[in-house]
Amino acid sequence: MSAAKLKLELSDGKQVEVEHGISPHDLAQRVNGELADRAIAAKLDGEIVDLDRPLERSGRIEFLFEDDEDQDSLYVLRHSTAHVLATAVRSIWPDAGIGFGPPIADGFYYDFDVDSPFTPEDLEKIEERMKEVVAADEPFERREVERQEARELFSDDPYKLERLEEIPEGETISIYRDGAFVDLCRGPHLPSTGAVKHFKILHSAGAYWRGDERRAMLQRIYGTAFFEKKDLEEHLRRLEEARKRDHRIIGKQLDLFSIQDDVGPGLIQWHPKGAMIQFLLRRFLEDELLKRGYDFVYSPHIAREALFRRSGHLQAYSEVMFPAMESEGEKDNYRLKPMNCPFHMSIYASGQRSYRDLPVRYAEIASDYRNEKSGTLHGMLRVRGLTMDDAHIFCRPDQVEDEIYGMLDLVANIYGTFGLEYRLDFATRPAKRIGSDQVWDEAEDALRAAIERRGLTYAVDPGGGAFYGPKIDVKFVDAIGREWQGATIQLDFVLPERFDLNFVGSDNQKHRPVMIHRAIYGSFERFIGVLIEHFAGAFPLWLAPVQVRLIPVTDDFIDAAREVAVALREAGVRVELDDRSETVSYRIRDGELQKIPYLGVIGQREADAGTVAVRKRGAEKKQVVLPLAEFIEQVTAENRTRALG
Ligand SMILES: [Zn+2]
Ligand SMILES: [Zn+2]
Repeated sequence: MSAAKLKLELSDGKQVEVEHGISPHDLAQRVNGELADRAIAAKLDGEIVDLDRPLERSGRIEFLFEDDEDQDSLYVLRHSTAHVLATAVRSIWPDAGIGFGPPIADGFYYDFDVDSPFTPEDLEKIEERMKEVVAADEPFERREVERQEARELFSDDPYKLERLEEIPEGETISIYRDGAFVDLCRGPHLPSTGAVKHFKILHSAGAYWRGDERRAMLQRIYGTAFFEKKDLEEHLRRLEEARKRDHRIIGKQLDLFSIQDDVGPGLIQWHPKGAMIQFLLRRFLEDELLKRGYDFVYSPHIAREALFRRSGHLQAYSEVMFPAMESEGEKDNYRLKPMNCPFHMSIYASGQRSYRDLPVRYAEIASDYRNEKSGTLHGMLRVRGLTMDDAHIFCRPDQVEDEIYGMLDLVANIYGTFGLEYRLDFATRPAKRIGSDQVWDEAEDALRAAIERRGLTYAVDPGGGAFYGPKIDVKFVDAIGREWQGATIQLDFVLPERFDLNFVGSDNQKHRPVMIHRAIYGSFERFIGVLIEHFAGAFPLWLAPVQVRLIPVTDDFIDAAREVAVALREAGVRVELDDRSETVSYRIRDGELQKIPYLGVIGQREADAGTVAVRKRGAEKKQVVLPLAEFIEQVTAENRTRALG
């Protein structure tokens, strides 16, 4: 070990010189005892390390605390809790094979190779055992080992051995022990199992080893952990709320869509009511696009590989493209399209463009196909066949700001209509990129200026842009506080090069246009999946597949109800007649379960007076009798203004 001193820079900028091999904990103690008591881990030049890990190089050191704003502390807590979980499982099933146990967005999981899936009783038992592991307060001891020792240590666990062999020669192999459980792990962890506080085991599910369906099926246990009890409770309450709003369950109850084995996983079948929602969203957007100077284009679902070779998708994106299809006598194979950009490029490139023609805005609601891994598919939220509201804008550099401004205005209009709050992430140039600094400067300035001109706040993700251009991501929040990726606006300096796009400038010379990809909904599948959960199936009237359901009290009033239905339909209202021979209360209850905005009951009094007994969804007053004309006016006004309810 070198005797040279380390130079460490603390987060307040102070420089300290300390002996080689000092632990962050000892360093903290030397700086300030209170700091040492509160720290849960440290960060050396951005890399999270254990508090007792000997420091072997100089750098910038920070400490992590429970109440940090960012996710790093939670990451350490949740990964440590995953170890506690594995410790508990191994103490109950000593032969369980151990897969991966990472922290994830809202918690953590761990994969186990066991003979049969875990039952709910098993999970309860595991959670109880975890509490004992926490109470035992065993330190997480890190040790660096030689490859051979690690092989012997994990000789009975093929998964650990497989991962061990993947660690490159010369790289440190570290193991962590807490009590009887030893794991091959890079860390970092909390100081001891006792530092794990408020956790909950959520559920378990089968998961292929490394997501590969040809490999063994393991059992994945999901859980979550927080430093504060109230945060855990709030999270569990939200999960419960999300469970009730699950779009797969509501989609079935309201008969909106299905996914069928014969058709294939990740492929959505839109039933009439779901298709109506998609139609209404399309029409809403397309009307807006026409007002905003977009042109509609349509492109084929398949194309020769030559196109995707030119765009670079075949090289960079092939793992999510479906395999090639042959056509007789042709050298080149065909592919289903994963994206629409290459087609729109080709349309632009098919003719001469002058600076006066720009901006050119091509919009297409298009079907794309991506061969996502089956394990990642999830209802409408993660699919293989997606319907995108795609657009590509070709403009002069001096037009970028106004184009972005216009897109942000469209986002405000569309998202505002759904009552969705949103924020922007602005991803700037990464280290590895193409294009000159001047091009990036201009592009980033234009994006920033457009955002600021709209008076929007945004977070900068420095270096988070793609190598081919900066990007704005719109993140919106649903009714139960979950954040979703929404619209994206992506500048692209590469595709115009690859397709040799140009326009003739006022100087009579050829110039490259700037190209912007943008989607407002993203995919209809995902957006509608989220809307189902956001509204819990109770769509605002303008989006409701059925806006009014009429209920004649007895068969004697079916004709009167039919006349009302005709009048409503002529006024553009989507109306349905429930003439089943069930009781009125049964049919009212059913209409409520179907979340229909208005139920109209028609009996003797209404038939005589030309009125409807109206029950508005969610209204305080159960039933109001309205003259038909007044009822029609109320419904059509609500529809026209796209009122939220
Ligand atoms: Zn670990
Ligand atoms: Zn694109």
